[in-house]
Amino acid sequence: MYDYLVVGAGLYGAVFAHEAAANGKSVLVIDKRNHIAGNVYTEKIQGIHVHKYGAHIFHTNDKEVWDYVTKFATFNRFTNSPVANYKGELYSLPFNMYTFNKMWGVVTPQEAMDIIEAQKKEAGITEPKNLEEQAISLVGKDIYEKLIKGYTKKQWGRPCNQLPSFIIKRLPVRFTFDNNYFNALFQGIPIGGYTKMVENMLDGIEVRLGVDYLENKEQYDSIASKIVYTGAIDAYFDYKLGALEYRSVKFDTEILDMPNFQGNAAVNYTDEETLWTRIIEHKWFEFGKDEQGNELPKTVISKEYSSEWKQGDEPYYPVNDEKNSKLYLEYKNLADKESHVLFGGRLGEYKYYDMDAVIASALKVCKTCGLYK
Ligand code: UDP
Repeated sequence: MYDYLVVGAGLYGAVFAHEAAANGKSVLVIDKRNHIAGNVYTEKIQGIHVHKYGAHIFHTNDKEVWDYVTKFATFNRFTNSPVANYKGELYSLPFNMYTFNKMWGVVTPQEAMDIIEAQKKEAGITEPKNLEEQAISLVGKDIYEKLIKGYTKKQWGRPCNQLPSFIIKRLPVRFTFDNNYFNALFQGIPIGGYTKMVENMLDGIEVRLGVDYLENKEQYDSIASKIVYTGAIDAYFDYKLGALEYRSVKFDTEILDMPNFQGNAAVNYTDEETLWTRIIEHKWFEFGKDEQGNELPKTVISKEYSSEWKQGDEPYYPVNDEKNSKLYLEYKNLADKESHVLFGGRLGEYKYYDMDAVIASALKVCKTCGLYK
């Protein structure tokens, strides 16, 4: 009998398992994939840590979370500054003075603000009700059309006027010359890869891979007093109230026999016609060098394609629109009645969490369980 069975060896599960074990609890971690680290999993290819399930750039304003993760890895000084490619025109992201200068030729912040204000007025927006209106009121119509509209439609498979505005509020808008994508005090990539970091969290803890909890639920439930479930909440209940919608992502990864393909870790293709949303060139997360500081002769790139999730696909992004949020609450009601199960993480809570928020949420639950102070 274990004190805790943790279902899912991603960040949430690893943090919970670490704290439980550190408090003398017996813990078993299982995952249906054949590797740990969930979607932050990195695999070394040609000396490069490839982010197999999409780019993960750790960033946080939460000192407690930063102090926590840095116990398990040393972070490099990577700062995310993606480039947007709109039909061959390149723009700086997030939206800042470099973007405004390239778009309109403006030189001062006041000139940029005046254009945005005029475009917002022309669109007649006072209180933004959806992502489209929110975007236009933040950055004006031109930037919306070239850098947001097509990308968002590809990413979410829905037009911007059917999406919640909070999605675009994730991105900063700055009237300074600052290409740092995040407003975060702390940022970086774990040296040696995320897999190593999660391995350190799970050090000394029993982990079984390639096993599916839901397929043998009764048996697994019988071996632990409490279950920490980090899979999809609707799957747990066998979709009995209907399936929640997710976006899935597919990656087309290639090794290229050249040292530098695009000169940046992330290039977003913001037009609607290009089929992929972005191309990641993984070596730039580590400045093009291996752990010994050698330049790498080859490069690995991943084209990222977004699609609607269907059963059998990996769920990535919860679609937190009105309809799905309502359905989630119904599942949450059921979940609250499963007193021996804790539901956590992006899939367990159906929430568009960043990594730092996942860790904060796991630590909060650990505190409630008396496992963390
Ligand atoms: N977005 C956009 N153009 C871009 C980058 C982002 O319109 O070039 C919008 C898009 O709607 C996206 C949202 O901003 O879903 C949030 O972007 P973020 O980079 O935070 O998404 P993630 O990295 O989590 O996929």
